[in-house]
Amino acid sequence: MDRSFPLLCISRHRMGIDGTGVTTLVCGAGCPLHCRFCINRRLLAEEPPKMVTADELYEMVVVDDLYFRATGGGITFGGGESLLQADFFHGFRQKCGNGWHLCAETSLSVPREFVSVAADTIDEFIVDCKDMDPAIYHSYTGGSQKRMEENLCFLLEKAGPDRVVVRVPLIPDYNTDDDRQKSLSRLKELGVTKLDVFEYVRC
Ligand code: SF4
Repeated sequence: MDRSFPLLCISRHRMGIDGTGVTTLVCGAGCPLHCRFCINRRLLAEEPPKMVTADELYEMVVVDDLYFRATGGGITFGGGESLLQADFFHGFRQKCGNGWHLCAETSLSVPREFVSVAADTIDEFIVDCKDMDPAIYHSYTGGSQKRMEENLCFLLEKAGPDRVVVRVPLIPDYNTDDDRQKSLSRLKELGVTKLDVFEYVRC
């Protein structure tokens, strides 16, 4: 039986936000973290997920096939925590073929095997590390920075730094520019070469 995906929403025709070329963002439900400014939880309260198979999801997004092929774009799986759906990705890749770029936005706050399975299929990972300081990380997410860092090291080793972008946010009330500089230094020490520095906007 096909593994299903808990679909929350689809956003088409994105450029330069979450992956190469023109992308379609496919958001799944579920996340082990409890970030203070999470938009996904609000979305989930308004819009329950719909379970879709790889075939069904493909039919919903194939309308942009030409855009993907012309720009080197494709699908970005977001969330929630996209890697909770790691065993869905393989079936979807079989359906869409190798012509689409598949990207996953993740906190890496998942069991190691999910990271490993995803690395077999996903072309590019966009990791939101929150902050590399364990106390700040825990205070903002309720989760373990150690787990995220260990999974990041594993991913860099397995997929290679070219396939990993790490986003380093400034989080109002939780970290400072100095904290962010420390995070950037630590990430470089770990071998991260693609960094995206940005600021959370409260809405
Ligand atoms: S990792 Fe993302 S989806 Fe999960 S709680 Fe944090 S902001 Fe929400």
